[in-house]
Amino acid sequence: MILDDGDDRVSLIMATQFSAFLTGLVMGTCLLGLGIFIGFWPNRAGQRATGGSNTDSNRTSEVLGHLSKWTDRFATDVSQYRDAVDRFAARCAEFDDEDSTLQPTSLTILLTQVVEANNNVQDRLEAAESKLLDHTQEIAASMEAARIDPVTGLPNRRACDDELQRRFDSANRTDSTLAILLFDIDHFKSFNDTYGHLAGDAVLRQVASRFKLPLDDSDFVGRFGGEEFVILLTGNGQSISTAIAGAVCDAIATEPFYYDEQVFTVTISGGVASRRAHESLADLVKRADAALYAAKDAGRNCTWNHDGACLAPLSSTAPRSAAVKRIENDETPSLYDPAVQPLEIAVNS
Ligand code: GH3
Ligand code: MG
Ligand code: MG
Repeated sequence: MILDDGDDRVSLIMATQFSAFLTGLVMGTCLLGLGIFIGFWPNRAGQRATGGSNTDSNRTSEVLGHLSKWTDRFATDVSQYRDAVDRFAARCAEFDDEDSTLQPTSLTILLTQVVEANNNVQDRLEAAESKLLDHTQEIAASMEAARIDPVTGLPNRRACDDELQRRFDSANRTDSTLAILLFDIDHFKSFNDTYGHLAGDAVLRQVASRFKLPLDDSDFVGRFGGEEFVILLTGNGQSISTAIAGAVCDAIATEPFYYDEQVFTVTISGGVASRRAHESLADLVKRADAALYAAKDAGRNCTWNHDGACLAPLSSTAPRSAAVKRIENDETPSLYDPAVQPLEIAVNS
């Protein structure tokens, strides 16, 4: 670097100081903004996680992905800036060697400070980047957890609604079948009143696991309400939906339930409705609901279908389940205590 006189040298020093100050200011502002964003984002995302939809969760992941990329790009920019300052510092050191009349250490000291400040920026940026990654993972996990029912481990009502809408839209687009199977545990209030809520929770869990038995990976089962469950079947004919509804009812009624060394017989009622052209999702759900009410009215432990025109039972199950027969025949598993009688809740209505 060749300078003509002292004024140029002073100008160079001032330009360097101003450039360092400006760069520091810009980076400081960016880091402050990033810090505020990182600090506030998890709270906002957390609020959404407990109340947001699948779309919210996808949008949040998308935004965090962009932010992560931006941080990465910013880190690269800082790295390139640091290299440029390093090169400049090396040139100035050469210049100091050439012209001994200039205060030899002023530029070197200044540039050392700039390099140090730059290193700090880089370190803080890397820390911010790693924190951002941690937050992204935490948010993804909490969003996932917010859609799972903690008692049964099944998708909760919000997740059921999203899946229902998604499958309904897709079935409409491709004009394919969609069957909604709604189930409700019979006399569950009496069960809780008699055996306690912990026994009720245990039954809910066991019911949930039996629901999965006749289902494929592509079928959906979720906890639709307190003691209500929903199964969504896509691309199946009416006979398969009927068979699955019957299999689910049987899986509940024909095997005893156990809790705290007590044996219970539990039954469920079901309502089935399949998508019809030009029908709204709300009307489709209403038909499945009506079919479920019809099954309750018919005495429970059965499944009814609403085909749009009329309601009809799909199958009739034995009034006494196979589980009870098994106990009577003394073919019970070792957990069974003969002193404890299987539960047969009186029909209230
Ligand atoms: P029905 O045969 O007509 O369906 O009668 P029901 O008693 O099952 O229906 P009702 O709506 O009167 O009662 C539902 C009960 O489900 C009341 C509530 O205590 C119970 N319940 C809902 N969620 C839970 C839960 O998470 N755990 C437990 N243990 N019970 C629950
Ligand atoms: Mg019930
Ligand atoms: Mg209910």
